[in-house]
Amino acid sequence: MSDVIVVGGGVLGLSTAYHLVCEGAQVTLVDRGDPGQATAAGAGILSGGALSRNDDPVHELAVKAFDYYPTLIARLEADDAGDTGYARCPLILVASDERDRREFEAARAAILARQAATGRPSPEDLREITPDEARRLFPPLGDVHGALLSRAAARVDGRLLARALRRAGERRGLRIRQGSAARLLAERGRAGGVVVDHEDVRASSVVIAGGAWSPALTDVLGIPLQVAPQRGQIIHLRLAGRPTHEWAIISGFREHYIVAWPDGRIVAGATRETGSGFEPVLTAGGVREVLAQAMRVAPGLAPAEVVEMRVGLRPLSADGLPVLGPLPSIEGAYVATGHGPSGLQLGPFSGKIVADAVLGRAAGVDLAPFSPARFRA
Ligand SMILES: Cc1cc2nc3c(=O)[nH]c(=O)nc-3n(C[C@H](O)[C@H](O)[C@H](O)COP(=O)(O)OP(=O)(O)OC[C@H]3O[C@@H](n4cnc5c(N)ncnc54)[C@H](O)[C@@H]3O)c2cc1C
Repeated sequence: MSDVIVVGGGVLGLSTAYHLVCEGAQVTLVDRGDPGQATAAGAGILSGGALSRNDDPVHELAVKAFDYYPTLIARLEADDAGDTGYARCPLILVASDERDRREFEAARAAILARQAATGRPSPEDLREITPDEARRLFPPLGDVHGALLSRAAARVDGRLLARALRRAGERRGLRIRQGSAARLLAERGRAGGVVVDHEDVRASSVVIAGGAWSPALTDVLGIPLQVAPQRGQIIHLRLAGRPTHEWAIISGFREHYIVAWPDGRIVAGATRETGSGFEPVLTAGGVREVLAQAMRVAPGLAPAEVVEMRVGLRPLSADGLPVLGPLPSIEGAYVATGHGPSGLQLGPFSGKIVADAVLGRAAGVDLAPFSPARFRA
């Protein structure tokens, strides 16, 4: 019998499991490997919250999660877990036409007001730049009607990060079981494990980190989570022979972005298809939208080779906030999901928080806004 069963092998489940085994817990992670796993499709932007345009509770979590990344990466390196693709890199919020420009003015005012109020990031790390400076940092850019540069940003490869967490976890005793957790075992209001492929797998605590699929395990208990899949389609391009590893991440308006990686790889994303259901398929409309938005902002990408297209189902909660912490009514059951478009950024830190909660330790973050109990009202 394990101390803890974690359901879900995306970044949330793997980070939770990794932090638990680091503290000596006996952990089994159950993963079904659904097509459409969000972690495997994610673009990997870690914006650190610097360019976020509001001050909701996620902002504080984003700042802490961003600051935690170097600690985690150093730990994974010490565990010889392999590359994660993590690298600090600049991020530019770009207005590409007059319509963007109006939104840009409002965004700039909100972002710079928060910087002035909090003193963070420093003026070197967050400032307005000229169109020429923006094009130096990302040469394929076209017209630039406004650009705000953040140096408090980074990128990570979701697939490599997941592999590293898994590898490091297994070295520390994490057991991985391929299978489907059909049901939570609960007796007298206490979690006792899960049923995996018709077999009772016992543990004294259970963490549900099943991404968009998480509600299937709680709805049957009468505990609604209000998390649903939001499809994201994303396209990988290649500009061979260009020094893309030095280029900035571009955040355009209209929820699209471009992330440059080493070896000429450029990732353009992504659709945000709320209400898509569990259909992880590429669509003609989605592919057209992603390419059109990328080319609108960066027409210099026209000669790029299309090398791959990915699709993932983001676990999006009804109020857009993560769902983190104890499940109401069932002692020993916890939830880690609902990270929507920010799970690669927040997920490693959220996993640590949930691991701490399972171990009875203080989270160091106010989890009240993220409580799974909020959907009961
Ligand atoms: C196109 C796209 C771009 C994105 N870009 C970014 C970005 O730039 N930055 C950022 O921070 N985030 C980004 N995200 C969001 C991020 O990828 C997600 O928020 C995050 O990966 C969610 O992780 P998760 O572990 O909650 O879910 P998932 O990665 O979906 O993993 C859930 C896992 O649980 C398993 N599972 C579910 N139910 C069961 C069960 N009953 N039994 C066993 N296994 C089960 C599934 O098979 C799956 O493997 C992006 C997402 C997409 C789709």
